[in-house]
Amino acid sequence: MSSTVINDHATSPPPAPEPDNTTGIKPVTLGTYIRNTVGIVAPMIGVGVAIYLFWGQGCSWLDLGMMVVMYLVSMLGVTIGFHRLLTHRGFETTNTMRFIWAVCGSMSMEAPVFNWVAMHRRHHQYSDAVEDPHSPHHSGPGFIGWCKGFFRAHVGWAYEPDPANLFRYIPDLQKSPSMRLANKLFVFWIALGLAIPAIVGGLVTQSWEGALSGFIWGGLVRVFLGHHATWSVNSICHIWGSRPYESNDLSTNNLAVGIAALGEGWHNNHHAFPTSARHGLEWWQFDLSWLVIRGMEVVGLAWKVKLPSANELASKRRNKNGATSETATGDQSTAGAAH
Ligand SMILES: [Zn+2]
Ligand SMILES: [Zn+2]
Repeated sequence: MSSTVINDHATSPPPAPEPDNTTGIKPVTLGTYIRNTVGIVAPMIGVGVAIYLFWGQGCSWLDLGMMVVMYLVSMLGVTIGFHRLLTHRGFETTNTMRFIWAVCGSMSMEAPVFNWVAMHRRHHQYSDAVEDPHSPHHSGPGFIGWCKGFFRAHVGWAYEPDPANLFRYIPDLQKSPSMRLANKLFVFWIALGLAIPAIVGGLVTQSWEGALSGFIWGGLVRVFLGHHATWSVNSICHIWGSRPYESNDLSTNNLAVGIAALGEGWHNNHHAFPTSARHGLEWWQFDLSWLVIRGMEVVGLAWKVKLPSANELASKRRNKNGATSETATGDQSTAGAAH
């Protein structure tokens, strides 16, 4: 069975948001500031503890295994669930699978699913324009401006105010009872993601030390790695790398982020073809998230899987001078629309 090539990018696009100038600004409250800081710093402290423990007694295969498994579960929740399925509707699946992917993504401790999807749709609407919530390119001139831009794109954006009606980007998710539940229980999913490796570690080793070690490696260290892999897509993949496709922004393909972020680092491909369920468009561009979606399709758990057609690819591919083909015809221009 071959993957479906669907050119009907207009059949189920995420809803078009209202113009931004109708919104006010929602200031960052002290509570948000504290929550974000704890969410960002606690995993860093976990890494510090892990290094200290590793120095003294090494790290067990059990801890390493839990770190890898929990990384894959939570990050695929982000890349497949939050991003390709819920933000861009790159494929269709059952309600149960949508919920499971939303729960897995929530365990990454990045953001509640509503905030993540709304923010990311906003990023695509304004990619690398001044209104982009996390472009690295608007933080002033020179080296200082560059450093500020990198920091802003990577993590500083979390401390910037949102538009008051940010959720106008996600009426589709707000209508869904299962998505409302997944969003509402965000803190519970985080706790679950931290508890699972601790419980497994404790049960397998029959010790409190094993539980603590599982919590550190499968919980905090895993969250830290996921955070920075995801944020590298915002920072590194709008600065360093190749730009084989016209995407109306400065997004890039970056091999290291492509691997670490499970396929999300082929970010220029993604901005050129946002609804494509596959980001690694060349055979050598490793995209684990795509392989999982393809597997879901094979067993009947994914359908209407969207991929750019050969004509769409050709119409946006840059030549050596950076120009795109002029032979494009038909409705190909819609393939690169923000949503
Ligand atoms: Zn981007
Ligand atoms: Zn996207």
